[in-house]
Amino acid sequence: MKRFYWTHPDVLETEVEVKAAMNCSVTIVPILFHPDEGGQPADKGTIGEATVCNVDVVDGRIVHTLDRPLADGKHIARIDKQHRLYTATQHTAQHIVSGIAQSQFGLSTTGVHIGLEKCTVDFDKRTDWDTAAELERLSMEVVTLDVPVETVFNDTDVRMRNDSDPIEADVIRVVKIGGYDKSACCGAHLGTTGQVGVIRILGIESKKKGSRVTFLAGMRALAYSQLETSVLRELRKAAGCSTSELPMLLRKALDRASELSKEIERLWSLLLPGLAESAQIVEVESVKIGIQVAEIPNPLLAKLAATIAEAVGGVGIAVSDLNIAVRSAGGTATDILARIQNVAGGKGGGSSQAANGKLGKALTSDEIAAALKNVAR
Ligand SMILES: [Zn+2]
Repeated sequence: MKRFYWTHPDVLETEVEVKAAMNCSVTIVPILFHPDEGGQPADKGTIGEATVCNVDVVDGRIVHTLDRPLADGKHIARIDKQHRLYTATQHTAQHIVSGIAQSQFGLSTTGVHIGLEKCTVDFDKRTDWDTAAELERLSMEVVTLDVPVETVFNDTDVRMRNDSDPIEADVIRVVKIGGYDKSACCGAHLGTTGQVGVIRILGIESKKKGSRVTFLAGMRALAYSQLETSVLRELRKAAGCSTSELPMLLRKALDRASELSKEIERLWSLLLPGLAESAQIVEVESVKIGIQVAEIPNPLLAKLAATIAEAVGGVGIAVSDLNIAVRSAGGTATDILARIQNVAGGKGGGSSQAANGKLGKALTSDEIAAALKNVAR
């Protein structure tokens, strides 16, 4: 079943013959709308007064789901130009990238996804960032040469690039971009490679035994590059260095931050015995409970509670801001935490020997002691 956009990619508005399928679904001749297939999203637009909500391939027919019923007969169909321009630009760029990847790097395309935010091409082998950068440069050369994107029918030498793509047996449509790419494809494309404007490869990741390359083309690629440039500019200003110096400077800063955090932890751990010693002690049901409320780093809270528990030979409670840790060799940690949270609210849990949580409001050590005593009575 031939599609109108295969041979007339620039025609986005024309009279069509509408035939109702069921409820709000119709088929049209000629086939102006690209359906959701082959990794390319469906076209948007209108047929007569109706808005096209979905375009799907159903049992070999292209069915348009509308927002209202439409009478059989002739209507004007209009494609959403911006949406088609976006999908056709990304899809044409993908042909260029896949063609160059195959001929120059022996990477066969195994999957394609034209997303509304980003697009991906999957290759059968692993590749690296240097290859991706060269692939980007060579693809841009094809863009600048403004090569026509042609449609050829029933060229039986050409296999479909992605075997899972639905394609009708009655006609094989082959897309040919000069000597750069030749592949069977149902999609909607631009007229020439020059209309793509820009191709940017944004990332690469391993995917099973192959690799997935993320890319964007056209104005969306420019917008993405502008965002990255503005982020880099901010980073250069903050760090007072050039772009190429940024990775080294950031690594140094992260290493330094990690060293300092270890040093802070070491210094705090020297203070823990003193904090344990100055803990307020209460005796509840003949169990000694030590309570310390102090501003200490969260990772040390459990250590302080354990130090207090050991020092008093009972239960240790350490609170910093709204964070609380309870340690109890006697197995009452969750019970003690629940008693305090009866007064303060909050959430948390753990085991009978070690419980951690957050309080709903800040409490002093006197208030914690009162809360434990009140419940005990
Ligand atoms: Zn295509």
